[in-house]
Amino acid sequence: MYIPIPDLRQAQNVLVVSPHPDDAEIAAGGTIALLAEKGAKITYAMVTDGAKGGLEPGVSEAQVAAIRRTEQKQAGNILGVADIVWLGFQDTEVPQPEVVREPLISLIREIRPDFVISLDPWLPYEAHPDHRRASMGVVEACLFAGLPMIQPEDLEHGLAPWQVTGRALALSPSPNTFIGIDSTWDKKIEALKCHKSQFPSQIWDTFYPLILAKSREYGSKANASTGEAFKVLTTTHLHVMVDTWEA
Ligand SMILES: [Zn+2]
Repeated sequence: MYIPIPDLRQAQNVLVVSPHPDDAEIAAGGTIALLAEKGAKITYAMVTDGAKGGLEPGVSEAQVAAIRRTEQKQAGNILGVADIVWLGFQDTEVPQPEVVREPLISLIREIRPDFVISLDPWLPYEAHPDHRRASMGVVEACLFAGLPMIQPEDLEHGLAPWQVTGRALALSPSPNTFIGIDSTWDKKIEALKCHKSQFPSQIWDTFYPLILAKSREYGSKANASTGEAFKVLTTTHLHVMVDTWEA
């Protein structure tokens, strides 16, 4: 069975959903910058503000949240992100997908993206509950945003049902799309370094070789030195299809 995969490189209006500040840059920063340079409108939705991600003792959650919001804004500016929407869920306490998907359905209907970039909820060894729940909430939101009987009250606010063409799932165990990011690699690294609270030098020194090695592997599949990988799927792939793992 063959269902065509839409071309992420042609995306014009992209919603990027990130569980915490920094996840979008780690998973897809080079591709986001590439799309923005080609004229695509990029909107971020931050599921949490990462308030529990502080690494220094004695700093309050409110202080961490403020720092991370600023860091995320700086990173977004480097990549060409037009807007950041903060969904306001609590860090480490993201609720089940049926709760997370509600504001995401409304946001999809408002922004009307052709592509949604998020993390692959079927990454088998992902231990962080925020990542598992938020990522599943995104694919559920994409599935339901086009159905008029789901959250019909959205229509009263001018938000009509909207069908997203492609989901690009990053950090995927079975990617089908490899994007060369040599021209935006520096922007990706610069954006990552904006998240100073998450990458003090001892962490950066461990993290950077890992992300570089993975980028080299993905780049080799895109005739580039560095790359990012995605599982790009359509609505059709994501319901009652047994072959999607192979897609
Ligand atoms: Zn995260």
